[in-house]
Amino acid sequence: PSGSEPATKIVINLERLQQLPADKVGPLARYAAAIQSQRGDYNGKVLSIRAEDLRSLSIIYDMTPGELTDQLIEWGVLPPEARPTA
Ligand code: C2E
Ligand code: C2E
Ligand code: C2E
Repeated sequence: PSGSEPATKIVINLERLQQLPADKVGPLARYAAAIQSQRGDYNGKVLSIRAEDLRSLSIIYDMTPGELTDQLIEWGVLPPEARPTA
């Protein structure tokens, strides 16, 4: 059912992320920037992150991983296909 399933493949749209207000996406933007720094991966338009990272981020956002997945799709940070079909 919608709102309960975490994304399976997490590919963050970095351009979209930069367009959103920092009070909403600040923690996610900092997390993505830290991963880019650790990888030395600065040139991509997208960033693939670990499923484990979605779990960590959901704690930061005080949501379930499924709720955070829906929020990220709503913001356009994840494509709609990221939501597993109900
Ligand atoms: P894909 O997973 O569908 O990724 C398509 C393209 O999205 C990649 O093309 C790359 O331009 C971009 N992309 C996805 N994730 C990231 C990321 O974290 N950072 C950056 N900078 N770009 C990202 P690319 O690199 O030519 O790769 C083509 C295909 O080769 C990928 O399609 C995937 O099937 C495979 N591939 C590349 N790297 C990996 C990897 O680390 N693991 C696995 N399993 N497959 C990989
Ligand atoms: P690490 O976790 O010790 O991973 C070392 C290397 O193993 C990575 O070097 C990468 O080449 C490979 N690796 C580990 N797990 C995966 C995976 O699920 N898929 C792919 N394609 N490769 C994997 P890399 O990329 O230079 O990263 C260096 C360090 O940066 C990592 O050391 C880790 O501490 C951190 N890091 C990079 N990306 C992420 C991420 O998406 N999430 C988290 N939590 N840490 C990351
Ligand atoms: P991927 O490279 O296609 O890896 C798919 C899944 O295979 C990963 O899902 C993880 O469960 C497993 N896997 C791949 N390589 C390793 C590894 O070296 N060690 C371990 N323990 N498991 C591995 P996961 O973790 O959800 O990651 C999703 C995607 O995020 C990866 O797709 C890759 O594109 C990216 N990623 C994750 N960690 C790293 C990293 O450290 N460095 C880089 N460059 N990319 C990473």
